[in-house]
Amino acid sequence: MALRPDEISALIKEQIKHYDDVMEQKDVGTVMTVGDGVSVVHGLDNAMLGELILFPGDVYGMVMNLDEDSVGVTLLGNADEIKEGDEVRRTGKIIEVPVGDAMLGRVVNPLGQPIDGQGEIITTKTRPIERVAPGVMTRKSVDQPVQTGITTIDAIIPVGRGQRELIIGDRQTGKTAIAVDTIINQKGQDMYCIYVAIGQKNSTVAQVVEKLKKAGAMDYTVVVSASASELAPVQYIAPYAGCAIAEEWLDQGKDVLIVYDDLSKHAVAYRTVSLLLKRPPGREAYPGDVFYLHSRLLERSCRLNEENGGGSITALPIIETQAGDISAYIPTNVISITDGQIFLQQELFNAGFRPAIDTGLSVSRVGSTAQIKAMKQVSRNLKYELAQYEEMQSFAQFGSDLDAATKNAIEHGERVREVLKQAQYAPRDVIDQIITLFALENGFVKNVKVEKVQEYMDGLVEKFAVAHSDLLDEIREKKVLSDELTAKLKEAVKAYTTQFENLQKAEA
Ligand code: ATP
Ligand code: MG
Repeated sequence: MALRPDEISALIKEQIKHYDDVMEQKDVGTVMTVGDGVSVVHGLDNAMLGELILFPGDVYGMVMNLDEDSVGVTLLGNADEIKEGDEVRRTGKIIEVPVGDAMLGRVVNPLGQPIDGQGEIITTKTRPIERVAPGVMTRKSVDQPVQTGITTIDAIIPVGRGQRELIIGDRQTGKTAIAVDTIINQKGQDMYCIYVAIGQKNSTVAQVVEKLKKAGAMDYTVVVSASASELAPVQYIAPYAGCAIAEEWLDQGKDVLIVYDDLSKHAVAYRTVSLLLKRPPGREAYPGDVFYLHSRLLERSCRLNEENGGGSITALPIIETQAGDISAYIPTNVISITDGQIFLQQELFNAGFRPAIDTGLSVSRVGSTAQIKAMKQVSRNLKYELAQYEEMQSFAQFGSDLDAATKNAIEHGERVREVLKQAQYAPRDVIDQIITLFALENGFVKNVKVEKVQEYMDGLVEKFAVAHSDLLDEIREKKVLSDELTAKLKEAVKAYTTQFENLQKAEA
């Protein structure tokens, strides 16, 4: 780095001047360069990685580089007033965010300051944004479900409490929609939710908050937002801040769901910071430690064992792909860190199959142990049936002469798809999901026209709520479909189906 002669002499003078107050001096430094939200500071010999540094004008910076005789600091505020030669001070602290129940219902920035115009957050407790993930011996395996309310996920790619399930897909394929619906569905399920928005438009975040409010989900949710207009370092710390808020509840033995929307933008923010700090660029210009960026974050999600309170943090990180390429650098990194992925496909989305989940490329590696038994019983064949349908459908395009078995598989597949279609903001209770899948897998929809399947299912759910709440309660309580219960369900579904078919005939 080129120093001007007067600066060099100033530095040397500094070094030889105060022999007695060396201690003091190590905590005070001088700005050597400043620009692009990054400052190189001389003289902070004792500075720690991640420590907060106070600049003039109450601007804070975070130590990111420890070089031989200077430190690289990223600025977390407006740097316009900072000049070369300014004096800066160590604070001895790393960034902390306020935590606790007072955060519920609030929208905050990554420093935990409210940005929703609803006044101060009254809480005395804070936590550092970085923490070492809980160790192996404090954990236990996933055994309780997170009900997302999205039938495709709960049936085929189930998520358990403490799991990390990636939501991945191109832009505008409904990634955020899945996360938001999952949060909405946590009402009354004893789950605290945190939605971390990174590098998104303020208007998009405002819409999400609006929807959560409308659904009554803000009562148990915190939104942490570092919008696209924020400085890169602020975006960089956002997910860690969200995780710190989650850990407060984790340590109280509670269950927390955290959404990181999205980590692609987070990686880009980190790349920006790294390049400004002149760290060597690697593949796709990301710094060498970009894997650690997300691994240390996602490792903090866990299911603790009973001795440690039994709490959990379930993470739903989101990654945006380009043209469906899940083998790019950041996507493969995050895929390898998580316990499975929900892959959203543009073609399915455009074809009107929404949520556009590609069940072939999606997987949940641990969640099925947490799935409730009754759901397992009715969803066992779904994935296979969908795969078979897709394969046979492409066959069917070539010729019209199909044997009966193929025709059956295609017709059934069409109906499976219809049942899995779901509107946004309409999560379905798990017991209702079981009822619909039960009707589907037991062949009751065979004679229902494809375009009527949704109507049939909505009617079925309604019918059960009105006339068979005893059966719903029984499933909820026993969690498994015994032979006896199966018989009762069949009878009820059959009665409804006959009624529905008669109505259909009358209409025709
Ligand atoms: P981005 O890449 O911009 O973040 P995204 O992948 O998060 O996009 P969303 O914003 O969730 O996608 O959804 C894109 C659009 O699709 C929105 O207009 C949303 O309303 C619509 N959409 C999402 N899910 C569904 C659904 N199940 N049914 C109907 N429309 C949906
Ligand atoms: Mg989105």
